[in-house]
Amino acid sequence: NGGKTFANPRNAAAGSLRQLNPEITASRPLRFFAYAWGDMSEMPADTQMGMVEAFRDWGFVINDRMKRCESVEELVKVYHGIEEERATLGYDIDGVVYKVDRLDLQTRLGFISRSPRWAIAHKFPAEQAFTLLNDIEIQVGRTGALTPVAKLEPVTVGGVVVSNATLHNEDYIKGIGPNGEAIREGKDLRVGDTVKIQRAGDVIPQIVDVDLAKRPEGAEPFEFPTVCPACGSHAVREENAKTGRRDAIRRCTGGLICPAQATEKLKHFVSRNAFDIEGFGDKQVDAFYADGFVTTPAEIFTLEARDRQALTKLRNREGWGAVSARNLFAAINERRSIDLHRFIFALGIRHVGEGNAKLLARAYGSWEAFSQAMVKAGDQTGEAWRDLNDIDGIGGIVAEALTEFFAEEHNLAQLAALLEEVTPKEAEVVDTGNSPVAGKTVVFTGSLERMTRDEAKAMAERFGAKVSGSVSKKTDLIVAGPGAGSKLKKAEELGLEVISEDDWFSLVGA
Ligand SMILES: [Zn+2]
Repeated sequence: NGGKTFANPRNAAAGSLRQLNPEITASRPLRFFAYAWGDMSEMPADTQMGMVEAFRDWGFVINDRMKRCESVEELVKVYHGIEEERATLGYDIDGVVYKVDRLDLQTRLGFISRSPRWAIAHKFPAEQAFTLLNDIEIQVGRTGALTPVAKLEPVTVGGVVVSNATLHNEDYIKGIGPNGEAIREGKDLRVGDTVKIQRAGDVIPQIVDVDLAKRPEGAEPFEFPTVCPACGSHAVREENAKTGRRDAIRRCTGGLICPAQATEKLKHFVSRNAFDIEGFGDKQVDAFYADGFVTTPAEIFTLEARDRQALTKLRNREGWGAVSARNLFAAINERRSIDLHRFIFALGIRHVGEGNAKLLARAYGSWEAFSQAMVKAGDQTGEAWRDLNDIDGIGGIVAEALTEFFAEEHNLAQLAALLEEVTPKEAEVVDTGNSPVAGKTVVFTGSLERMTRDEAKAMAERFGAKVSGSVSKKTDLIVAGPGAGSKLKKAEELGLEVISEDDWFSLVGA
């Protein structure tokens, strides 16, 4: 139509679906292969292949390259066959997905976070291209990490225009890997270099090689800054007390005075999986921070009151009117009550991502219980510390980061101010119908015969139970197989309920 050309099929499809006007979407010749389903009242088949065949019988288009294989060799053969056909397919693909065919086995295998254990992608080799490294920019993250980013002469790799690539840290630029090994055969990266870019699937593009023959004369080794570009504080590479190794990441020591850390923390705080405040995104964080409107999370929630006192007048600002200001205040007020795991995630504690925040919320149930336990665990020896480490999925690094966060006076002060404005909800118990083990802490020990340890864990969690690796007073139930040793003994000493694997299956009715 003489308009702008789409960069690639993915953008064309996604952009067409995101149109506000459905007529524009309808006018675009989009097609799809049916291969999965949402909720169904009645399953037409008990295998993946059977499901897809049912889709075909119902009139959906399915991909006839889908194949049922009996061995790994067969899978790999199909993979290579499709790889050969790839260029002539008439649509873009980046690999093949293998799935366990039997749906009951899919259920048994379950999920880790959002990724299924019963499906795996086998990607085709990444596409590569050469381009110029125009500059190396340093970004400061919310934990103060100085991250170098390659600014590239824009180049098309696998149908996508690439102009940035991650450089990880200063060692990476020097050609040194995380364990001191040489990467790119030890070749460093210099501004002006001709570099080889690689992009695989959705992965952030990487620089995999540099063409030394094309290095301009006088190109200097990159000098990594030792002060923060945002606040001028010293940026240091901490030494790990245990391993004695220097951290690969250089961090700004500015803390609260660093505007880059403060704005990145605020951006994290309002992000989609944290407070998710509508109309309060990166742009608003930058603008409000620059004007001193909002410098801490708590100040987001006092914005309206200050606005009313005419201390700040949002509606007089450029781009804001009375309606947009009112909408923003309404969106903020909607978040004065928030899920506990979102609240914990929003704090931006190192190593505490969404998954860990959910584990913590489920383990402690309420903000009061969680925060008091974190302060108590600060001794790193007592019962609170042991309980924290006992949470399945929470490792030592996470536990340390949590207690360090709660040992900082200024963090506690910011939290107190925030809790004046916001109330974290009690963690909801997983909806498990009338599961007899919902909310209970279960320990599996000994060798299990009807399921693997991972399956047992996935199953218990599906029924709303919490699985722990060690036995304590807080354990509700022990499922002991043959050969159970010290855990069983401890359970018996504590007088806890011990059942067999068969009892477990009849208990949960599986
Ligand atoms: Zn700084």
